Amino acid sequence: MRHNPETLEHTTLRNYIGGSPVDALTDSFLPVTNPSTGEEIASVPLSAGADVDAAVRSAAAAFPGWSTTPIKERAHVFYRYKTLLEKNAASLTALVHEENGKIMSEAAAEIEKAIEVTEFACSMPQLAAGEILEVSKGVECRIDRHPLGVVASITPFNFPNMVPNWTIPNALVLGNTMILKPSEQVPLSSMRIAELLLEAGLPKGVFNVVHGSQAVVEALCDHPGIEAITFVGSTRVAKIVYARATSHYKRALCLGGAKNHLIVLPDANEEMTASNVAVSMSGCAGQRCMAASAMVAVGNVDHIIRRLCEESKKIVPGKNLGAVISKQAKERIERYITEAERDGATVLVDGRNAVVAGKESGYFIGPTVIDHVRPEMKIAREEVFGPVLAIMRAKTVEEAVRIENSSPYGNAASVFTQSGGMARYVIEHASAGMIGVNIGVPVPREPFSFGGWNDSKFGACDITGKSSIEFFTQLKKATTKWNPESRVNWMS
Ligand code: NAD
Repeated sequence: MRHNPETLEHTTLRNYIGGSPVDALTDSFLPVTNPSTGEEIASVPLSAGADVDAAVRSAAAAFPGWSTTPIKERAHVFYRYKTLLEKNAASLTALVHEENGKIMSEAAAEIEKAIEVTEFACSMPQLAAGEILEVSKGVECRIDRHPLGVVASITPFNFPNMVPNWTIPNALVLGNTMILKPSEQVPLSSMRIAELLLEAGLPKGVFNVVHGSQAVVEALCDHPGIEAITFVGSTRVAKIVYARATSHYKRALCLGGAKNHLIVLPDANEEMTASNVAVSMSGCAGQRCMAASAMVAVGNVDHIIRRLCEESKKIVPGKNLGAVISKQAKERIERYITEAERDGATVLVDGRNAVVAGKESGYFIGPTVIDHVRPEMKIAREEVFGPVLAIMRAKTVEEAVRIENSSPYGNAASVFTQSGGMARYVIEHASAGMIGVNIGVPVPREPFSFGGWNDSKFGACDITGKSSIEFFTQLKKATTKWNPESRVNWMS
């Protein structure tokens, strides 16, 4: 294990409670591994209920002061935070690269998105302002937004900086206080986020971090001092967290996994389609919930598939393709490929057994393109979460949409075509929350909100953008009457 003062303050991580690092009340730790090298870089505590309790006390104590700070002042903290994210972008990028394994340009893009979300949060004073209306002579109805209280955010391994920042700026500018439970596989970025928030002037206790895994999540769901939970991760765990949090009458928004279908029509632009599909399926080593995982080839698009294979071969592990998160993930992804081949699919580009010179212990897989997959095969139905594309064949766009609709997920779907009518058909009929036309990764930019449908999301609202304002606030309605001259009328 090594200690790098550039990126890690503590080799053995501590929780972050009340504005300071605090030892977790546990003797149980997990190793944190650099996926590109297999090297152990830190250890993370598996905190317990008592740690969650301490964090809730800290966040609850900070709530009265923070929630009554005018929203413009709260936004000012996030102007400074945005500047600090920009100033520290290089080291934050390096840290994401180190703990997650994605390449530097992808890690840098993650910080860019965190900056964009923070910029959006700075406009909350305008976006979350109340409303007032004179409903009859001298009688006014007024609506104000109020924060919920202490909220918790539970995040996955694939975006160690961006996904925590999906919720932190919006929830806090709106007056809530927060406990973050980052993924135990990538816990380091959250500590830098906590330090930068403090440096930006966030009062102590408004933001807290508790490290750990299942036990911490369960304690957050059960704790009576927490009003709302957001979760981003796999569908399996999203369902568990949604059921447990709502059984304690909490507001919950749980984003799950994905199986995104790209529908490619014969009139699609060959170069643009091939390069977009290749990048969508292999970017972040396929470990993003917006990745292309299935392609439905409509009619004869063999020329595009050939070009796609050429493009895929230009994506080289260790050069422009990062590692997957763990040895177990590498083995799982390679198993999916082997089983698809055994079930009769054709592996056109094979990324198994990739080895990067000088990083022989890293968890690399090359881009993999598999043709003639049938919709009932495991690789067509399940989330692989690696740089693997399963191609299915359809005769018509209607059949392609039926294949897309049969997936239990519904995060994103895209269509590649030059026909406006075909594009419109897919926009109308795909069963997904985020749709792309001639774009492989249709992530809505701020102020548009991020969130899927079906088994990709449980709960109302989306997690970013304007929709998140509804999630992180409750409405107070006040009716005032200052009209003695009108006496009493029907609505008094
Ligand atoms: P995961 O579900 O394994 O873990 C997510 C979080 O839940 C982590 O903090 C983890 O500690 C915790 N956790 C794990 N098992 C738990 C359990 N049994 N009970 C309670 N908590 C538990 O997900 P991951 O592997 O870290 O991330 C990859 C998944 O996240 C993929 O499925 C991906 O599609 C999904 N994801 C979805 C979105 C989205 O916006 N829909 C965004 C990013 C990632």
